[in-house]
Amino acid sequence: MGGRYASWGIVNPPKQRAEKLAWSPAELDFDRRQSILPFGNGRSYGDSCLNSNGTLLDTQSLNRFISFDLKTGVLEAEPGVLLNDILQHVVPQGWFLPVTSGTSYVTLGGAIANDIHGKNHHCDGTIGRFVNTLHVLRSNGELLRCSADENQDIFCATIGGLGLTGLITRIAIRLMPLRSTNVDVQLKVFTGLEEFQALSTHYKSEYQYIVAWLDCASGGKNFGRGIFMAANHAKQGELKPGPVTTKLSIPINFPRWVLNQYSIRAFNSLYFHKQKSMVGEQITQHYQGFFYPLDAVGQWNRIYGAQGFYQYQFVVPIQHSKVLENMLRDIVSSGTGSFLAVLKEFGDVPSPGLLSFPRPGLCLGLDFANRGVQTEQLIQRLDRQVQEAGGAAYPAKDRLMSAEAFERYFEQADKFAESIDPAFSSDFWRRVSRQ
Ligand SMILES: Cc1cc2nc3c(=O)[nH]c(=O)nc-3n(C[C@H](O)[C@H](O)[C@H](O)COP(=O)(O)OP(=O)(O)OC[C@H]3O[C@@H](n4cnc5c(N)ncnc54)[C@H](O)[C@@H]3O)c2cc1C
Repeated sequence: MGGRYASWGIVNPPKQRAEKLAWSPAELDFDRRQSILPFGNGRSYGDSCLNSNGTLLDTQSLNRFISFDLKTGVLEAEPGVLLNDILQHVVPQGWFLPVTSGTSYVTLGGAIANDIHGKNHHCDGTIGRFVNTLHVLRSNGELLRCSADENQDIFCATIGGLGLTGLITRIAIRLMPLRSTNVDVQLKVFTGLEEFQALSTHYKSEYQYIVAWLDCASGGKNFGRGIFMAANHAKQGELKPGPVTTKLSIPINFPRWVLNQYSIRAFNSLYFHKQKSMVGEQITQHYQGFFYPLDAVGQWNRIYGAQGFYQYQFVVPIQHSKVLENMLRDIVSSGTGSFLAVLKEFGDVPSPGLLSFPRPGLCLGLDFANRGVQTEQLIQRLDRQVQEAGGAAYPAKDRLMSAEAFERYFEQADKFAESIDPAFSSDFWRRVSRQ
């Protein structure tokens, strides 16, 4: 089944049954199902949101707001609410998401289950840090209220728990005060990872958001060039949320020849020079353009064609930045690196989530058009280097992680496994747990 129940990378959508949930999921009869998995909005790139030959519990209609305290900024909502829906509701009241991904079209439940991080990881950590309570429905019919003090084991396993500990039916989360919908952005050009690190070290104490765009297509004198961005919310201004809908949509899958090594290089070069022209000044822009540039184009994943694409996102400790440089050389010479490679430095703010991916180090994420075995081998080669450097890859973006790699990346995997609901599973989980 493709369509809504494919993951964002599209590669080989499996056959699976989907059940659209409506209030109240507490009436679900889990016993009849063999293998179940909650489904948010399918913005995970790989197979952590897929369940071949099993059943998906589609949470799209569990999208009600339950309460919002204007004084404390605590919002309680059902898991199918999109981050974009939350922003529409809370921005005019002077509140914002404490952590957001690079798209606002993810559900709150999906965001918790992957313990998402944003450009502010170095100061605020992951979204799991802002969760007050979760209600988790287990397949034995138990509905557990979980927090740092109550059912703490399920709470910590469910944050970043990849949908395997039960169905989240309700979430209470602390939002962040906001005084303007604008962000003030500083742009700098850099060449090489050392220059990126120097900029990151210099700016991270004064800027809440730091991210860079890295050119993964150019070698020679342009090797490792990129645009560094540091931003803060403006201190005063309007409180007007971004648009509800996308401006442009990709109606069909692009033919394969559209994306080749020359078009990728040309795009990277064009993007680099466009951004470079703005370097030096402080730019003020609406949060929508800064946080969610890709949300302006609906279904942009179709530009990779019907065969889809892989995303690979990993982090390596700072002392192993040379490993990252070697990996970058491998990516450049493969000529298949994507339009957008995002580089950031993660901080050391711990998450309550047992399987949380972010940890201190340099993090790079990029797409690879699916060229079959050639692409798989490149990603596996990169993954071996990440393992050797003591880093980790991000399950939300993964489709190839081995059981051995998973055990190395997630030291608390055994503890996590104790909280898994026996009726829940996914393609990702069956691979990394050798089932
Ligand atoms: C353009 C783009 C940019 C992105 N940028 C970032 C980024 O900056 N940082 C980042 O961390 N991620 C990023 N991502 C990844 C994305 O944020 C995560 O994959 C997110 O979890 C997807 O949410 P979803 O609602 O689409 O859930 P799905 O992809 O459908 O599911 C994700 C996981 O959540 C589980 N789940 C969903 N609902 C529930 C529920 N009610 N109860 C229990 N489990 C549930 C599923 O079983 C699955 O394991 C990006 C993705 C895209 C497409």
